[in-house]
Amino acid sequence: MPEPEIPAWDRDRALATLQIAEVPFDHLDGNCFGFARERSIAINPLNPLPHKTVFHEAAHVLLGHTSEGIQADSDLTPRNLRECEAEAVALLCCAALSLPGIDECRGYVQHWWGQGREIPERSAQRILKTADQILKAGTEQGVRS
Ligand SMILES: [Zn+2]
Repeated sequence: MPEPEIPAWDRDRALATLQIAEVPFDHLDGNCFGFARERSIAINPLNPLPHKTVFHEAAHVLLGHTSEGIQADSDLTPRNLRECEAEAVALLCCAALSLPGIDECRGYVQHWWGQGREIPERSAQRILKTADQILKAGTEQGVRS
């Protein structure tokens, strides 16, 4: 079986284009694979699927979840929908780039959102837009904008 052709998606270029900073992972919980805080993300160096977590955490930033988080007592988007949205973005990015992690994404979405439950139309649109934004930002076409 020949290796699938993977379009060039560059993590550093994507984050720079999206104006997201990658900061050192300083979370105490070793089971945490990464986190997003305002406009920065951190990826656990032990993460087995770092690209998937980059997509997920970048999605949290782009979907506005991290700015909502500042106002801790008025949680605009429920946590389960936030996780579902971010992970659905990661799933689309992994699929588009033929990267591993799709099964893990599916499991995570089902864990937070439930199996066979429909994603709200508004979220579905946000998911598609954000995945497109991340993919374009990491490819050469995305540089000129
Ligand atoms: Zn998350």
